[in-house]
Amino acid sequence: MEPRPRFVIEAAEAEFMAKQSGQTVLQLLPSLVKPAQRLARPPISQFNVGAVGHGSSGRIFFGVNVEFPGLPLHHSIHAEQFLVTNLSLHSEPHLDSFAVSSAPCGHCRQFLQELRGAPAIKILITEPDGGCRSDFEPLLSLLPHRFGPDDLLSRDVPLLLEPHDNRLEFPIEAGGGLCNGGGENGFIEDELKRVALEAANASHAPYTKCPSGVAIRDCDGRVYRGSYAESAAYNPSLGPVQAALVAYIASGCEGGGYERIVAAVLVEKEGAMIRQEETARLLLRSISPRCEFRAFHCVSGCKKGCC
Ligand SMILES: [Zn+2]
Repeated sequence: MEPRPRFVIEAAEAEFMAKQSGQTVLQLLPSLVKPAQRLARPPISQFNVGAVGHGSSGRIFFGVNVEFPGLPLHHSIHAEQFLVTNLSLHSEPHLDSFAVSSAPCGHCRQFLQELRGAPAIKILITEPDGGCRSDFEPLLSLLPHRFGPDDLLSRDVPLLLEPHDNRLEFPIEAGGGLCNGGGENGFIEDELKRVALEAANASHAPYTKCPSGVAIRDCDGRVYRGSYAESAAYNPSLGPVQAALVAYIASGCEGGGYERIVAAVLVEKEGAMIRQEETARLLLRSISPRCEFRAFHCVSGCKKGCC
């Protein structure tokens, strides 16, 4: 049986691997790009992208591109978006550097601007033969004259990978939202609602103030969460279903396909200016037709009225 693919290498193991090969952990990253590429899911382009990043905790994270046949291309997950979402899922506070199999596209250079200190993130581009096209160079050199959070937000607003609390809660008149009554299905839905609410409250949505989160459940009962992540430039934003699919794929998911996803819950803000519900339904129906999907709407629990 094939070993379950891994998307995170713990710090001690990364140090050990580097020592074994007589390198630093940073020097190790390019050699992991090809193994990362093999985990990509690009059925449309057949162009596997792998990104291997180093976090400030010393851990190594993988990112890969993911495409969805039958849907418009903007549903795709780029490898750098997968990488950042993988860090977020593991509460990694900072991306220091990453090696990637092809030059980051403009969309990803923009998405990365949501990270604190983005211009200093070091990036190395590898060659197909395993060599390196460049040395590590800062993102600033790939995207000078950047547009990003500094143009739209005050400095005290949390950025991607920083702790968020969007203070959404289920409305009181709906019994606080977590009372679906007896029966196993009610308890399963309660758990998905709770996880999706946590994901929504951790969501990075400072531009629209419309946070959202998704919880998906596979046929083995495992639950995965995804938080919506906005970009200052809007279009590179990553939806909450995509983020939950990153969690699903990064778990190894027994190497399985999306048809193993049997239930999903979206939580978003009531009366929000931008909504994920219909897009989430479309994506889930396309990748897993038997998945039961429900959306719930929350109110702001912020007493100051600023959220
Ligand atoms: Zn990209």
